[in-house]
Amino acid sequence: MKKYKITLIKGDGIGPEIVDEAVKVLDAVASCSDFSFSYEEALMGGCAYDITGDPLPKETISIALNSDAVLFGAIGGEKWDALPREMRPESGLLRFRKELGVYANLRPAVVYDELINASSLKASVVKGVDLMVVRELIGGIYFGEPKGRTADKGWNTMVYTRDEIVRIAHQAFKIAMQRSKRVCSVDKANVLDVSQLWRDTVIEVAKEYPEVELSHMYVDNAAMQLIRDPRQFDVMLTGNIFGDILSDEASMLSGSIGLLPSASVGAKIGVYEPIHGSAPDIAGQGIANPIATIASASMMLRYGLDEIEAADKIDTAIKKALSEGYRTQDLAQFDAKEVCSTSEMGSIIANYIVR
Ligand code: NAD
Repeated sequence: MKKYKITLIKGDGIGPEIVDEAVKVLDAVASCSDFSFSYEEALMGGCAYDITGDPLPKETISIALNSDAVLFGAIGGEKWDALPREMRPESGLLRFRKELGVYANLRPAVVYDELINASSLKASVVKGVDLMVVRELIGGIYFGEPKGRTADKGWNTMVYTRDEIVRIAHQAFKIAMQRSKRVCSVDKANVLDVSQLWRDTVIEVAKEYPEVELSHMYVDNAAMQLIRDPRQFDVMLTGNIFGDILSDEASMLSGSIGLLPSASVGAKIGVYEPIHGSAPDIAGQGIANPIATIASASMMLRYGLDEIEAADKIDTAIKKALSEGYRTQDLAQFDAKEVCSTSEMGSIIANYIVR
């Protein structure tokens, strides 16, 4: 029997509550599959700073690198906001991604029929939306040199090498092969040389995926099209800063921050986490929505461990819980038949896992 070693980083705020529910669902899916999980917890964020004086202890990196995947809750909170920037929980997370070499951020945006009214857009526009933003995560303008500032001048540089574009493009095409086989590459090639290199390179990589239909879009148009007609997209492939903005925009199509998962993957290992933060305002009350984290565990199975059938089981169980009218507090106003706690929602989804 296969045994996967999973690193659990629960973090701060609602992190521990939501990760516990994802573990419950992972155990349910393992109990009817030919694999099992072992878990090791590691510290990161404010809780790590409080105990070790560092938001990202070295031990956490080695535990993660010795495992098959990382399931992550959330970090941060007001308590640590006054610390110097490099000691803040958020810088621990950025360092962690860099140390693990996770270069691709996968952010699906799915609109569940049952929650269609949670979207700020009209139901007729968002019904059936199911897209994936594939964002390059460790290059581009957030990391490019030179950068700096004087009293009255500031500058950053958007740099991509061909190799960086090739590896993220492969990631997007491989994901498209598991979906509707369409990739829209988003750039600003009409203005930026770096974007022209991006476009030329993506066209080259596409030759290895003849079944996938490739299109290109300028980022300003893409921002508009996401709101005008989001169903036209399957996989959106883009660089770091454009992806940062577009993936947040896409996440709002579903209207609920508590539902959306993400994955950050690299050559060695992936980190799977909800897109929301540590929600200190509701921490410890048992009302956080665990679905984004449970869906992140599903992404871990699908994209990290290649256990597609098990991932499908989790996704089906989430849909069933929603279609049966179970809602956590945050979604109570959207056709709830029963409002449940964080832990009840985890148990309901775990019980819907089909044996
Ligand atoms: P947030 O995402 O934590 O919360 C925004 C709002 O959404 C809050 O009202 C919160 O109660 C609600 N919310 C979030 N997740 C929810 C869930 N699962 N169920 C129900 N409601 C939920 O964003 P914020 O308030 O801007 O940030 C809080 C802290 O989280 C900050 O310290 C921030 O730096 C950190 N943060 C961490 C991450 C991460 O760990 N990856 C990401 C974003 C923000």
